[in-house]
Amino acid sequence: MAQMTDGVTVAVDPAPPAEIASLNPRDGTVVGRVPIHGPAEVAAAVGRARAAQVGWGRLTPRERGVHLRRVRVQLARQAEQLAEVIAAETGKLPFEAVAEVASAVMLLSHTAARTHRALAPRRVGSYPLFVKRAEVRYEPFGVVGVISPWNYPAFVPMQALSGALGAGNTAVLKPSELTPLTGVLLAEIVNAAGVPLVEVVTGAGPTGAALCAAGVDKIAFTGSPTTARKILRAAADTLTPTVMELGGKDAMIVCPDADPIAAARTAAGACFANAGQTCVAIERVLVTPEHHRAVRDELVDRAGRVSIGAITQPGHLEVIEHRLADAVSKGAVVVAGGHRRPDRGPNYFEPTVVDGVTLEMDLALYETFGPVLAIMPVADVDEAIQVANSTDFGLSGCVFGRDSAVVERVLAEVRTGGLSVNDAATTVALPALPFGGVRHSGFGRLHGDAGLHEFSVTKSVATNRLRRTQPLAALLARPSTPSPALLAKAVRLLWGRK
Ligand code: NAD
Repeated sequence: MAQMTDGVTVAVDPAPPAEIASLNPRDGTVVGRVPIHGPAEVAAAVGRARAAQVGWGRLTPRERGVHLRRVRVQLARQAEQLAEVIAAETGKLPFEAVAEVASAVMLLSHTAARTHRALAPRRVGSYPLFVKRAEVRYEPFGVVGVISPWNYPAFVPMQALSGALGAGNTAVLKPSELTPLTGVLLAEIVNAAGVPLVEVVTGAGPTGAALCAAGVDKIAFTGSPTTARKILRAAADTLTPTVMELGGKDAMIVCPDADPIAAARTAAGACFANAGQTCVAIERVLVTPEHHRAVRDELVDRAGRVSIGAITQPGHLEVIEHRLADAVSKGAVVVAGGHRRPDRGPNYFEPTVVDGVTLEMDLALYETFGPVLAIMPVADVDEAIQVANSTDFGLSGCVFGRDSAVVERVLAEVRTGGLSVNDAATTVALPALPFGGVRHSGFGRLHGDAGLHEFSVTKSVATNRLRRTQPLAALLARPSTPSPALLAKAVRLLWGRK
């Protein structure tokens, strides 16, 4: 923007917008507006969360579990209301939005029931100081900054919140700028149970960056590896611990003795759900020659019949088209879909199946995050394992097959945080299983006991078994030190024999 000052034209930056509009991807209409919070508002939110944490953190894990059950009841009662906001902001199907809230309810329900068991002080052995009693205790970090994406705007925050709150922390949630109203309503629902456990700050990347710099005690980030790197750099400055849940490129391996129809239907379900915008979506089907044709035909059939929602992210249709063009230029064939659906709205893309995908194509290596399934023919299970491990990601995946020795080999050799057998994405749906990835899919674990421990500081406590025991450390400062030769001899005697 140009401005005249004393007859001289100078360039001035446009004033930053004070609010962002949340748009409905189905038709571009405005769902609502939220303020853009700057560093001062973010710091104030962290301050309020810190004040609320004092009382919350003093409750016993059992008391916190009881309260989280109240939150669960509140969430279940407002499920429809929350699902409506989710569907409006993401463009997902109404059924998918309700299913998302149901998943959040179940996760919270499980975590609430586990807090007192998972966080009970744990006695461990006191070798070699047998006069001591050794115990591990779990304490909250304090305030957790939760930074979330837009694809599951209620379930993903709940993945971190359930563990963080159960462990006695409070939280400041920074929802995606594409789905802020879901974040605001989710926090309202949690807080409506009577304790202000979750503060919300809204805005885009700079608001998230402000949260990372606002002195939170742990950062729980879910999103892309690119943003993860920025957050890790910021966290390095303050030595703030983090848990990172990042992208995926999940593969399904179809073994020669698998049921190809069941495998293909599962792949279609696990790819096209949420229009492919799922971190644990199956994006690659690695199929041996026996089943190539059957799997492809079934996938084509499913792709032609399945109904899917909109693509949420502006500009992402172009990314999908670019991936397809790259694959086709290198010899792949689009056997189903492949086009936009302007008749349905500005952001719809057909369920798409691409055959003959190879490791030279972007479609084989990078997260597509759209309704596109790549069929990658492989010679055998060995090659399938090698191809499955050929991306930087390692979130989850699955194997279809009957021979348990072969299935076990796949389970052992595919490098991901989770794998399902003769099904897909079930590891994320079982709240007792730790959830998280390896390599560029992130680190740390959410859900269930692992999630409660992720947001706990372990405190080691050593006490004396008998009241009269003399302090051992006093022996370290003596007028005359014991003979080193004598000590070395004792070490040899005790541990130097086979
Ligand atoms: P993104 O990385 O663009 O944004 C995620 C969040 O980070 C948003 O709230 C954004 O505002 C915020 N952010 C951006 N810049 C920031 C900065 N410099 N500092 C702090 N915060 C910042 O990701 P997205 O597009 O919203 O989500 C899609 C990605 O999320 C995909 O890669 C998907 O696989 C991944 N994802 C992973 C999981 C999982 O559990 N592993 C779950 C859902 C989504």
